[in-house]
Amino acid sequence: MRDDGLRTAYLDALGIDRWVAKQGGVPAESAVAGEAVAARDPAAAPAVEAPRVRRSASLSAPAVPAPAVSRAPFAPEIARPESAPLPPGLDWEPLREHVAACTACDLCKTRTQTVFGVGNRQAEWLIIGEAPGAEEDRQGEPFVGRAGQLLNAMLLAIGLPRETVFIANVLKCRPPGNRDPKPEEVSRCLPYLSAQIALLKPKILLAVGRIAAQNLLATDLPLARLRGKLHTFGEAATPLVITYHPAYLLRTPLDKRKAWEDLKFARATYARVSGGGNA
Ligand code: URA
Repeated sequence: MRDDGLRTAYLDALGIDRWVAKQGGVPAESAVAGEAVAARDPAAAPAVEAPRVRRSASLSAPAVPAPAVSRAPFAPEIARPESAPLPPGLDWEPLREHVAACTACDLCKTRTQTVFGVGNRQAEWLIIGEAPGAEEDRQGEPFVGRAGQLLNAMLLAIGLPRETVFIANVLKCRPPGNRDPKPEEVSRCLPYLSAQIALLKPKILLAVGRIAAQNLLATDLPLARLRGKLHTFGEAATPLVITYHPAYLLRTPLDKRKAWEDLKFARATYARVSGGGNA
């Protein structure tokens, strides 16, 4: 971690406890104070505050045994209509232009602009959300509202400044009124995400929220059944970890503890699949 004080501040903003070094150097997790977690609302906290360092923090993750992998079939269980034709092998800019001009579903009639995705095109982490909201539709960038601030904090808590990852959504256009995506919208838009994955070749995918998780895994299982397991996505069988959507966590701060478990699981999975490297 480049800036441990900053990470500490983000962990505080998240309302999550930190790794502390036991005497003898074996990392151990500090006791989790549920009330403290509930009391801290990241939306109310400044994005960066002066670190209140209680104890020395260590980034080392515990040794995590390789979990059983749930291999979700790429062939969807949910019947989907035809996808928009997408020329194979497009590079980033032609792909972006293709998305910007997309009229494959009715969302093109109500969008302000498409939201292609943002970040480091060499990133090893791809964060996948559901769809742009009002602010994202206005700015053309994913996760720029309050939920985006919390997402940034979640990522930084595992040592990933926003600019080091790539962030995209299942849908590139905002559903009016922020309604759930329709299956046909997802089926027409997913090829864009698949093309982004093919270009990026991420080491790990982190899906935030039920809608992203269910659509990537082509399942209607609840989020509770999808968290805490290692899934894979697509023909490359890219490791896929599921956690809560930051907008949900803003409404339900008690579940930040579980989100922190997911983030540690994702970090440990990444360390395992990448041979211990950084993003
Ligand atoms: N929620 C999402 O899932 N994606 C965004 O880009 C913004 C909010």
